[in-house]
Amino acid sequence: MPHAWSPESWRAKPIQQQPEYPDASHLARVEQTLAGYPPLVFAGEARELRRQFAEVTQGRAFLLQGGDCAESFAEFSAAKIRDTFKVLLQMAIVMTFAAGCPVVKVGRMAGQFAKPRSAGSETIDGVTLPAYRGDIVNGIGFDATSRVPDPERLLQAYHQATASLNLLRAFAQGGFADLHQVHQWNLDFIANSALSEKYHQLAGRIDETLSFMRAVGMDSAPQLRETSFFTAHEALLLNYEQAFVRKDSLTGRWYDCSAHMLWIGDRTRQLDGAHVEFMRGIENPIGVKVGPSMDPDELIRLIDTLNPENDPGRLNLIVRMGADKVEAHFPRLLRKVQSEGRQVLWSSDPMHGNTIKASSGYKTRDFAQILAEVRQFFAVHQAEGTHAGGIHIEMTGQNVTECIGGSRPITEDGLSDRYHTHCDPRMNADQSLELAFMIAETLKQ
Ligand code: PEP
Ligand code: MN
Repeated sequence: MPHAWSPESWRAKPIQQQPEYPDASHLARVEQTLAGYPPLVFAGEARELRRQFAEVTQGRAFLLQGGDCAESFAEFSAAKIRDTFKVLLQMAIVMTFAAGCPVVKVGRMAGQFAKPRSAGSETIDGVTLPAYRGDIVNGIGFDATSRVPDPERLLQAYHQATASLNLLRAFAQGGFADLHQVHQWNLDFIANSALSEKYHQLAGRIDETLSFMRAVGMDSAPQLRETSFFTAHEALLLNYEQAFVRKDSLTGRWYDCSAHMLWIGDRTRQLDGAHVEFMRGIENPIGVKVGPSMDPDELIRLIDTLNPENDPGRLNLIVRMGADKVEAHFPRLLRKVQSEGRQVLWSSDPMHGNTIKASSGYKTRDFAQILAEVRQFFAVHQAEGTHAGGIHIEMTGQNVTECIGGSRPITEDGLSDRYHTHCDPRMNADQSLELAFMIAETLKQ
């Protein structure tokens, strides 16, 4: 029997990747304030997402999860949220329409502020400072004051997340996501490209279908006028997450109401660690990143700790190997999980195993490697007769130059033009749309 869980039972476990706040009582006060604030989501929504995850696990839908690596306080505007949302809508409609497959949409948005770091410190020109851990923890500026963790930032993150979620809900349900608007989701800067042409052709076919439905009196379904959209972030800062754990009055069970879905990062998935302890007790659908160091037996133990009832809607394994490592590491994990009869939603994160340093010094990812990892993920599933359930990507609707390659190729020299990320390099709208078309083709087969 596992020991009893409580919203704070994680505090007795070893924990990785946490900031060291200089004033513990200040942190405790902020935690208390947050715990008194309204939650961002409610339990019924998290249950609905679990239902949709079960559809994906059983091969009847596809999961699209995307957004910034890290949201920032400085770049917080309606336009930014709108543009990322537009690209996600475009990607989803491409897959839904071209492949005839329902798509579950989850944003890495409205709460994705904290970053795990490989090194706890950063050295520039002989000066060493604590690492930047995301705007929810400390400042990005390379000076000692900026890098001191400040609990007040937890409050600012909460307020920014609520405002972002409010706008996302309005977009999803207030007419913006109406299928009759499908042409409007295209972003101006990708107009006149081959990709944009391909998108408008598809949108034209959707228009025709909608006129037909109108003609036969079948266009009153609410699904045509609005969409469902969910939020997720890495549950890295457990002080923050604990403040949003609430007991659902309907079921008496615990939910982390800071987002619909939460995931555990590749650096904090230790079986006996605090993050696994925290996540096993909340009822939300959850994810775990699975990198090349994962061992098959360890994975089964992790699955059984996090999903003891083997519920198909509970657990998303997010595979992030790197294009050159998928072959070597993924099949044995998939086979093990299959042969042990565990039901999980498999998705591919083709970003985090493919980060490289350009000769100019920029941290980047090669779009060809991103495509290659996704292709191999699908191929492995096809060989094993299992369902490739989804993708988890870092992308933005802004016209950035952060990942090299793509149909309007970004070169290593071009990276400096519009390199805006606060953390990892994201695909721009072109690259995201190209990936969506590639997946739609694959799903159709
Ligand atoms: C991330 O998703 O931003 C991340 C840090 O991923 P991982 O835990 O897989 O390295
Ligand atoms: Mn990242």
